[in-house]
Amino acid sequence: MKTYKGILFIVITLVASTLLWAFATPIETIHPIDMLSHIVGGLAITGFFLVFLLATRSKILERWFHGLEHVYTYHKFLAILSLGFVILHSQLQDMIPHGEKALDTPLSDLAKELGELAQYGFIGLIVIALFAKFLKYEHWRFIHRLLLIPYALGLYHAYFSSKYDLFQATPLGIFTVITAIVGTMSALYMLTMYQDMRFKHRGTVTGIRKVGPNAVELAITLNQKLSYREGQYIFLKIFQTGLEKAPHPFSISGGDGKTIFVTIKALGDFTTKVNTDIQLDTQVAIEGPYGHLNFDKGHQQQIWVAGGVGITPFYSYLQSRPINQDVELFYSFRGQNDALYKDFLQNYADNNKHFKVHFIDTTTMDRLDSLHFTVPVQSSIFLCGPAKMVKHLTKHFKSLSNEVDINFESFKFK
Ligand SMILES: Cc1cc2nc3c(=O)[nH]c(=O)nc-3n(C[C@H](O)[C@H](O)[C@H](O)COP(=O)(O)OP(=O)(O)OC[C@H]3O[C@@H](n4cnc5c(N)ncnc54)[C@H](O)[C@@H]3O)c2cc1C
Repeated sequence: MKTYKGILFIVITLVASTLLWAFATPIETIHPIDMLSHIVGGLAITGFFLVFLLATRSKILERWFHGLEHVYTYHKFLAILSLGFVILHSQLQDMIPHGEKALDTPLSDLAKELGELAQYGFIGLIVIALFAKFLKYEHWRFIHRLLLIPYALGLYHAYFSSKYDLFQATPLGIFTVITAIVGTMSALYMLTMYQDMRFKHRGTVTGIRKVGPNAVELAITLNQKLSYREGQYIFLKIFQTGLEKAPHPFSISGGDGKTIFVTIKALGDFTTKVNTDIQLDTQVAIEGPYGHLNFDKGHQQQIWVAGGVGITPFYSYLQSRPINQDVELFYSFRGQNDALYKDFLQNYADNNKHFKVHFIDTTTMDRLDSLHFTVPVQSSIFLCGPAKMVKHLTKHFKSLSNEVDINFESFKFK
């Protein structure tokens, strides 16, 4: 379980929140249902603190969760869980017997109304975010950023309508203030500072090569050497009039750190424009590297599975050295136009006895499934490509044996 540090961090934080609320002393005697409702409400604001923290693309969290992809999976899971806590908190409030409810002050009245508004805000924004596939990535990202508003309202609600004095320097007060500040700062950081602070590597497009009818390879010469491992990816911003400025993730498909290559397949608006319009000498900025595909750490026997442009991390590794591991690569693509670096791969296989390649053209052959693979017991599997393919095959490999070491990168985050 490679993500255990990350999971442990989430569990410890949520357990700490539960215990601190459960053992704190309220300002006045409260009904047990009210007490439970406070614990659940506390879990909601702690959950959202984690949601915002996990969105910061922090290197430490990426390590703890073994890749940004896992970080985003837990980010999504926590958002849904926290929304559940918000709804449960409100239901429990409604269940408190009337005579047991404390009298409202104007301040707590307002805080309650804002709490209700926060609840609707969370429900609306999270439900919209879950329909990601119907939204353009930029719109989806914008909606995500708006979550800060219900979070701020929720914090106001907690501070001003709770039956616990969160302004006191009690363990609960300290925990709440720290998580509230870190949660808010994380959201503000992604909103205002991330784009400027994290894109430290600047560079210029110094080479453009068409590597297929729908794919272009860019050579980027950097002002400062980028230290990376073959198999990793970066976030790339391209500053050319007419191209979207937002960063997009691309695997490094080759290079030496001073010059790096990325191979971009035309998929949507941005990538299609890059394929048709990109010009030499265009300025770019880079953030990263990220990613946990580490072929050197795998077993001697390795199975590689690539789908479409997902060949890039493997191509990067193969170019960098003659491999010593025994590798069998299954490269799946839709039609010859989508097959990248095929000659290179065939040539590599012809000249290296450790490397075998199988080309699977899904327009004429069956899609990759369990029948294609014979997996030796002590082996490592590396997968990269479209999320659907990676998910499907990973499930299959996991069902084979617990001893198989599975590593994957899927080309989708939301
Ligand atoms: C870890 C990783 C590595 C990748 N490596 C490569 C590569 O080497 N070569 C390659 O051609 N493609 C790669 N991709 C996919 C590439 O990032 C998307 O194809 C590209 O961002 C699509 O942008 P678009 O506007 O053209 O398409 P759209 O139609 O707008 O988006 C298509 C899908 O791409 C994703 N996407 C869009 N914009 C972004 C963004 N700003 N940040 C993150 N995801 C986004 C979303 O899942 C979206 O649904 C990689 C993706 C990931 C997650």
